[in-house]
Amino acid sequence: MPSRTGERVSLVTCEAYEPGYLRRGVARAFDLLDGPQSFMSPGDSVFVKVNCVMAVGPDTAIVTNPELVSAVVTRLLEVTDSVTVGDSPGGPFTRARLEKVYEKTGIADVARRTGARLAMDTSVKEVPLPGGARVKRLSLCRSMVEADHMVSVSKFKTHRYMNVTGPIKNLYGSVPGLTKFVYHSRFDSQEDFADLVVDVHLAAAPSFHVVDAVDTIDGDGSRHGRVRRMKVIAAGANAFALESLMIDLAGLAEEDSRPLAAAVRRGVCPSGAERWYTVLGDSVADLRLPDFQLPGSNYFSERTPALMTGRLSRFTTVTPKPLAGKCTGCGTCAAVCPSGAIQVSGGTARVDPGKCIRCFCCDELCEYQAMGLREPVLVRIRGRRSERRSAF
Ligand code: SF4
Ligand code: SF4
Repeated sequence: MPSRTGERVSLVTCEAYEPGYLRRGVARAFDLLDGPQSFMSPGDSVFVKVNCVMAVGPDTAIVTNPELVSAVVTRLLEVTDSVTVGDSPGGPFTRARLEKVYEKTGIADVARRTGARLAMDTSVKEVPLPGGARVKRLSLCRSMVEADHMVSVSKFKTHRYMNVTGPIKNLYGSVPGLTKFVYHSRFDSQEDFADLVVDVHLAAAPSFHVVDAVDTIDGDGSRHGRVRRMKVIAAGANAFALESLMIDLAGLAEEDSRPLAAAVRRGVCPSGAERWYTVLGDSVADLRLPDFQLPGSNYFSERTPALMTGRLSRFTTVTPKPLAGKCTGCGTCAAVCPSGAIQVSGGTARVDPGKCIRCFCCDELCEYQAMGLREPVLVRIRGRRSERRSAF
């Protein structure tokens, strides 16, 4: 997706995940940008790429809300009758896994109610990317990249490895199943991985984006953060402009989104400070969410000089820690860990902090919510200060 000046994005207030609010909000987000006809024609095939990274209910705010997805699909079906909806969740890319995740997240019900097809194709396509910074070709989900258009419906929230996930990072879900962890192990620094996320986005080449931030999660990411009402639906053709808008709404700086910072560094998009996009619809100032917290450990790594970060890492680095009494020793975390940092023995998992790259894939994919956090003292102190500030 080329980035240029003069981009437009839409910003719409949505009070709650009520079908009426969502229908009106999504329709307005599209119509401010001349509707779906601005990028697609009748008869085109469309893949609606949601975020359903794991098998959890929509009340968690971890996954794209199914009522919002339903509103997007319904709007697209007004233009074409060929709409497929789905994702490639973490874990094995199999029909059984897809069925389980779609049922739990409510996406299967969206397909039943709207008449959209549910994406069950598990085949893979090699996509060349001559201009990629980290890779020159990528394995991506065939059904996503072979559709005439991909429409990404992302969830905006914090992410322990990239700081935030939203319109750019959502496309990492077009990498099939366990291949995600293979790429993680090849690009095992946050900067390299952010570059890879931008590469994947460029290879997947989505046509349009809708961002679900009616509820968001701040703090320590999907499993350990706070659900907060942001009341935002945003849309546009340019994910980098939308990511810039979202971090502005969260009161963050451009470099707080690692994928956005990578895109700016590489010249994939201008800096937000250059005001290269126009926001149509509601007021950014009115919708800005106060006191949006980044993941605790990343707070220190973002703001501490590199020399000191190394010396302080023992006091600032959060790593996963299986919870005694909850961990069943099932081994899923060890199977997906890209750095081989997890061993399972005696019915429980153990993490070697020295090998851990802090991607938190183990945490995301533990179905028993048995992966806790080993929080060093500085992170705990900062967490208590944040809680006190939020109380006022
Ligand atoms: S932490 Fe979770 S995924 Fe890992 S072995 Fe324990 S229960 Fe299984
Ligand atoms: S232990 Fe967990 S957080 Fe650490 S590298 Fe492995 S999967 Fe990632």
